[in-house]
Amino acid sequence: MNMDPDIFREALAEFEGAVGPAHVKWRPEELAPLAKATIPQPRRPGAVVYPGDSQEVEAVVRIARHFGIPLWPCSKGRNWGYGSATPVEEGTVVLHLERLNRILEVNDELAYAVIEPGVTYRQLREHLDRHHPDLWCDCTDGTPHGSVLGNALDRGLGTTHYADHFGTLCGLEVILPSGETLRTGGGVENCHTWHTHKWGVGPYIEGLFSQSNFGVVVKAGVWLMPRPGSFVSFTFDLARADDLPQLVDTIRRLSLEGVISSAVHLINDVVTLSVLAQYSPEQLQRYSRLPPEELARMRQEYGVSDWSFGGGIQGRPSMVRAARRELRRALSPLGRLMFVDDRLIGVVRVLLGWRKRPWLRGFIDGAVRVVTGKSPAMLEAAPEIHGVLKGIPSDYFVRHAYFKSPLPKPVESHPDRDDCGITWLAPIVPMTGEHVSRVVSLCKDYFDRYEFDFYVALLIQNPRSMIVLTAIFFRKDDAEQCKAAESLYQELSSAIAASGYQAYRVGTPGMRALAGKNPQFHAFLKSLKNAADPGNLLAPGKYGL
Ligand code: ADP
Repeated sequence: MNMDPDIFREALAEFEGAVGPAHVKWRPEELAPLAKATIPQPRRPGAVVYPGDSQEVEAVVRIARHFGIPLWPCSKGRNWGYGSATPVEEGTVVLHLERLNRILEVNDELAYAVIEPGVTYRQLREHLDRHHPDLWCDCTDGTPHGSVLGNALDRGLGTTHYADHFGTLCGLEVILPSGETLRTGGGVENCHTWHTHKWGVGPYIEGLFSQSNFGVVVKAGVWLMPRPGSFVSFTFDLARADDLPQLVDTIRRLSLEGVISSAVHLINDVVTLSVLAQYSPEQLQRYSRLPPEELARMRQEYGVSDWSFGGGIQGRPSMVRAARRELRRALSPLGRLMFVDDRLIGVVRVLLGWRKRPWLRGFIDGAVRVVTGKSPAMLEAAPEIHGVLKGIPSDYFVRHAYFKSPLPKPVESHPDRDDCGITWLAPIVPMTGEHVSRVVSLCKDYFDRYEFDFYVALLIQNPRSMIVLTAIFFRKDDAEQCKAAESLYQELSSAIAASGYQAYRVGTPGMRALAGKNPQFHAFLKSLKNAADPGNLLAPGKYGL
């Protein structure tokens, strides 16, 4: 951004006047930690402004408009691997909404909440547990401190049958680039269905505010789940890697039929290892990826299979029993299926307690291996997996970001703070064994060529589409690895697009390239953007806009 420094300082003074000086960060020393992101080359924001309510958001938008300063809205800025809180264009001012963190309403009867953008998964879950115990919310397997709305607006995916986060938003309040406030759909005065009927009447425009830059969402309805009468989670390990296409076809059928309704995360060995383990200092020094013999040794040590997945089944007890039967029938021929309920998790917790006594540890570890075929590390993971599949957020999984970090996995993860290098690249494909295998092997070729560990998770987005979520783990303190990660990202993105697949979600490094992909689509959006935001004030460059 080329801005006259005097005008910029004047604008900062006005921002300070609107939200209070303590809530505007622009000095180099306070901006440096906020400008960090796990992607290879994050763009520096010009400042970060933290309004305290929607009136202050409005004031900030009007000031920015007056001075022609672009704004990058974010809710909690934990968009790790996609750019965190950093913008596409250098110098854009981040409009950080974490202080807007009120849960405004919970409707027990109709199972929805109305929340502000700074509300986190943990906050919402704890609030429900305490005050509305008959309701559950979904979460991601990312940080508990992520924003419910931020993730939904970027169309993130969760872990339960309410995993399609944008799909569960209903009724938005948005501040437009003009500074005016808009309510979508049924958000007119006295309308009772604002948070119950997603489509409103007439054109549906909520989509314009997701993966886009048409407004700042300051309030939204989020649908919640009734606490189920029965809940069981399951884990599955594929016996033969060659059966992956057959497994994908089986999962699609189960999903189309409604036997599987939760989000399945079908993960490869590197994903499991990144959660359970970490590079040793020697490995970090010697390799940019684990050589096959090291990978094989670690797989053995941690009892990791080529492909595995977990899922949840919830509902009335009879429904859960029927789903278990169907899953067993469909999946048992392909590998090992295990069901886990709260009682079993209780036993696991007792065993984990006993494991703390050195004289019992060896005996328990041996017994776990013989009875379940799993490693002790998996035993520790079991309560976390079972919990996250119920929508209970956990910091456990996001520690995978420290797989190639010289730091030990912390209690409270913050990969930006700790200079972890991770960037997501996530094509979406029709959910057939053929499409999935084609894209997985295309990605693997590129990862091998660039000598990075091949991390891939296959996520059900809906019963017809699967996300092939890959992550490039690299060392931020190694210039060569940063460069290689960037090149791999750009080249693989182009190769995926050339093969006829699109991205499910894009990080800031991939946004520029989107502009040329579908000319009519972009021309139409551009004309809308010109009308709504003639100064290109909001999040310039976001998703190619
Ligand atoms: P999280 O902390 O849940 O990861 P972020 O705050 O990082 O979410 O936001 C994720 C994405 O959604 C970013 O691209 C951000 O620009 C966009 N976004 C987040 N909150 C809003 C909002 N309230 N209005 C408009 N866009 C938003």
